[in-house]
Amino acid sequence: MTESTSPKYSFVIPIYNEEATLLELYRQVCAVINQLDGEAELIFVNDGSRDRSLALLRQLHQQDPRICYLSLARNFGHQIAVTAGLNFVRGQAVVVMDADLQDPPELVIELIAQWQQGYDVVYAQRSARHKEGWFKRMTAFVFYRILKRLADVDIPTDTGDFCLMDRRVVDILNTMPERNRYIRGLRSWIGFAQTAVPFERNPRYAGDVKYTFSKSWSLALNGLVSFSRVPLRLSTYIGLLSAALSLLMMLLVLYWRIFVPHSPLAGLTVIIMAIFFFGAVQLISIGILGEYIGRIYEEVKGRPLYTLAEVAGCLPEPSTSQSATPDPRSLRLNGHDRLLRRG
Ligand code: UDP
Ligand code: MG
Repeated sequence: MTESTSPKYSFVIPIYNEEATLLELYRQVCAVINQLDGEAELIFVNDGSRDRSLALLRQLHQQDPRICYLSLARNFGHQIAVTAGLNFVRGQAVVVMDADLQDPPELVIELIAQWQQGYDVVYAQRSARHKEGWFKRMTAFVFYRILKRLADVDIPTDTGDFCLMDRRVVDILNTMPERNRYIRGLRSWIGFAQTAVPFERNPRYAGDVKYTFSKSWSLALNGLVSFSRVPLRLSTYIGLLSAALSLLMMLLVLYWRIFVPHSPLAGLTVIIMAIFFFGAVQLISIGILGEYIGRIYEEVKGRPLYTLAEVAGCLPEPSTSQSATPDPRSLRLNGHDRLLRRG
């Protein structure tokens, strides 16, 4: 692949402490890209790894010119790492996949077949999750179904970020400035022809899960809050319900006061219950409101989505795409150009 011609396929793979999987991943992905009908580039995004991942990426880049990598200046999280990779892709079809081989690279052949049929987004849908703990399976099952009911856009159940997107979808995704990113939701929001390819999710090849419970929880909240206003409405409904309840209580207390003067129920118990109940309702409502306001605050600060420490192999020039929208890389890279290192 020369620098002047763009590859047909791009792979974006976020890496966070994946030294144990990287070489096997490279081997398996190479086996797939060698079968493709066009050139491919692999864009690895090092998301502030503290192990030898970056050293391995440098080494792979030296060996194989198809390997590009970005290294973020710290750990920004999976969604931002994928976003950074997408900002640099040059291919006509872009595959996003995890590094731990839970997303089987050979499925990419099927994703590409659907893309060639004319689909702009081909997402992999999990039909089974092998050897994942019951807690993860159960929470994921419940969450995806709640999200499907509540979200403004139709976000398919049991889909992750493993997908293939056409260049025009990636160009639009790259113009979306929001920082609380839930890529699988944004991908659905964009529209165009989308289809699913079912697959069985393998266990992680090696290393520990990098999505801690708190990271998964934040991702789930992001998905819900970014794509639904139902939680806000819910607090209004809870408020209305508790107002109706309090009216009932008032009538009861009045009744007891007038007709049953020595009723113990009219005393302290009722007052304490009411204080706790309405206190809880108010705190829940403020909490829900806070989730939305916190995100507004994050958005208005307008910071760049990530900071780059090192880039190799990826062209810093604008992409070859025909999109009329501004190139997001020029926005993201502002102030970091000094740090760019051409491979
Ligand atoms: N990852 C990342 N930054 C993070 C956490 C994870 O780039 O802060 C990457 C990780 O290296 C992997 C992918 O995101 O390629 C998915 O992570 P993991 O396998 O731990 O998540 P799960 O499979 O449990 O969703
Ligand atoms: Mg995984």
